[in-house]
Amino acid sequence: MKKEFIFLGPPACGKGTQTTKLAEYLNFPHIDTGSLLRAEIKNQTPAGIEAKTFIDKGRLVPVELVSRIIKNRLSNDDCKDGYILDGFPRSLEQAEQLTKINAELDKNIEADFMAIYFDIDTDLLLERIVNRRSCSKCGEIYNLAFKAPKCEGVCDICGGELTQRKDDTKEVAGSRFETYNRETAPLVKYYTDAGVLKTIDANGTIDEVWERLTDII
Ligand code: AMP
Repeated sequence: MKKEFIFLGPPACGKGTQTTKLAEYLNFPHIDTGSLLRAEIKNQTPAGIEAKTFIDKGRLVPVELVSRIIKNRLSNDDCKDGYILDGFPRSLEQAEQLTKINAELDKNIEADFMAIYFDIDTDLLLERIVNRRSCSKCGEIYNLAFKAPKCEGVCDICGGELTQRKDDTKEVAGSRFETYNRETAPLVKYYTDAGVLKTIDANGTIDEVWERLTDII
């Protein structure tokens, strides 16, 4: 049976780290809309140019644009046994789009759909965000507060340069939290009502959260 996982939780709740690990563990593709959009921006595609104006303000990019990117990605052959979606859906409208996309792509395939909500104390998240750095070459994520690189500014894994995302500043992050509370948080009730939501305590170390995650999947 095809396994479909989606993840919910506020910015910097640790979803990116855990979903990357889970994708490796299950050998499913990790589909992260934030990274897909940043790649479009880097390549200066029309979608990237449009998305940038929203991302720079901490707002959601238009649903048609992100749904088109997701549909394209989910129709790849590597998604046929399952996938891990990180960062989509992010609104009720996107959740409806996902149902539609799955119905179109998986006409006769039985699927097991699970939404996992990262429940976390939000007080420390802003600090997490401003301390976040990522490798410009391999994408490895660091945090100057609790997962610092051995050598400042250099990736431990590939030696690439560590950079800070433009939207990881205090100002833009504030707007991302507002967007999350307004647009994305209602999905917790939506998927609870649909009977497919599991919640995990996302406070603690990477290993502690990983153990809780592997316990429920
Ligand atoms: P993230 O890397 O998940 O923190 O996403 C960075 C930014 O990309 C968000 O603040 C949004 O502007 C945009 N973005 C990512 N995923 C979506 C989505 N599903 N819908 C709309 N905008 C998105």
